Amino acid sequence: MSVVRVEHVWKDYMLGTQTVHALQDVSMVVAPGRFLAIAGPSGSGKTTLLNLIGCIDTPTKGDIFIGEEMVSRKTPDELADLRARTLGFVFQTFNLLPVLSAAENVEYPMLQRKDISKKERVARVKHYLDTVGLGAKMHNRPNELSGGQRQRVAIARALAGGPSIILADEPTANLDSKTGESILTLMKHINETERTTFVFSTHDFRIMEMADRVVSVADGRVVI
Ligand code: ADP
Repeated sequence: MSVVRVEHVWKDYMLGTQTVHALQDVSMVVAPGRFLAIAGPSGSGKTTLLNLIGCIDTPTKGDIFIGEEMVSRKTPDELADLRARTLGFVFQTFNLLPVLSAAENVEYPMLQRKDISKKERVARVKHYLDTVGLGAKMHNRPNELSGGQRQRVAIARALAGGPSIILADEPTANLDSKTGESILTLMKHINETERTTFVFSTHDFRIMEMADRVVSVADGRVVI
């Protein structure tokens, strides 16, 4: 059983007349409940791999499976639906909407979900802001929050849709090391209590140590 399967995936980008091989024959399997780090230096292909797993981009060659669903066989509408139901995203730069409060930011992606009623939405916003320790800041806008608090809002937003997998691209890169570690500790706590699978990228050794499995990439290839 796997939540994500990457099979012999290649990703090329065209840069002018040059082809950049961002990923070369990458295969990996993520088991349910994992807290997995994709580790490697800048430019090694971490973001590309996360974007492919997140169905934000498509491979040049190879297959990706989310659960049993083969991503390349899906129409854009089906993919959008799969993303909304199954995947949660956390970004390096938090990506909160500045004009919305913390609560509204958490609620926002759920507005597209016809299967979640207004009452359920409101309950989830409260529950997940409490989960990340920000219940008292629900009416504050992002610019009234610290970096660590903004990333906690982003984690609540990722969780609120009830995903089986959260993908986090360098979630601590814009935080000081102490705040970064507290964000990872929170993610690990959620991983253990909610059984949500986490796949996150990092180039920071202290953050890698907190993972229960590390996949190392270098020059677009998995090296261990
Ligand atoms: P990382 O996340 O590990 O820093 P990336 O996945 O962002 O690595 O990049 C992997 C390689 O692909 C790098 O050489 C980068 O310059 C290249 N690359 C990434 N995105 C693009 C793009 N849109 N166009 C051209 N080259 C790209």
